[in-house]
Amino acid sequence: MIEAIQGDITKLDIDAVVNAANKTLLGGGGVDGAIHRAAGPELLAACREFGGCETGAARITPGFRLKARWIIHTPGPVWRDGEHGEPELLQSCYRSSFKLAREAGAKSIAFPNISTGVYGYPKADAARVAVGVMREENGNFERIVACCFDAENLGLYRDLLEGGE
Ligand code: ADP
Repeated sequence: MIEAIQGDITKLDIDAVVNAANKTLLGGGGVDGAIHRAAGPELLAACREFGGCETGAARITPGFRLKARWIIHTPGPVWRDGEHGEPELLQSCYRSSFKLAREAGAKSIAFPNISTGVYGYPKADAARVAVGVMREENGNFERIVACCFDAENLGLYRDLLEGGE
């Protein structure tokens, strides 16, 4: 089942939470900052071990102080003009995150709207990419959540999910 909700991803009772990280994996603003604050300093210590991560790839850590058992960190693409591989990289973020979640044994997973904050990816285009990969993976999970922070994203996801597009 795929569902779109509006809320703070750090509060969810779910197996795995995905973090829209940056390539350093050392924390930042937006959802990344919120996840690090909620998970506690052990998260930063765990992330240091990776020595960074390429855009479109992903790394998994424990959830520490979150309810979630795992946090999956994926640096999304910075939007330039759409002609610099942004769609493929964003798709790769979702695919890489799902793969790590499957390998860990997660049955439920929540995603923020990766790259649609400071990275500037157009929200409607990003939602289409996200829902496309969520549909590919739907059979592998009991619950897939698009955790939207703003009403605009919630509306976009609900339209895509209801429309069956
Ligand atoms: P990026 O650098 O990938 O654009 P941002 O964190 O700036 O990452 O934004 C990604 C999305 O996460 C945005 O839609 C933003 O509104 C949303 N967001 C910010 N804080 C939270 C939160 N606590 N829970 C869920 N989503 C959040």
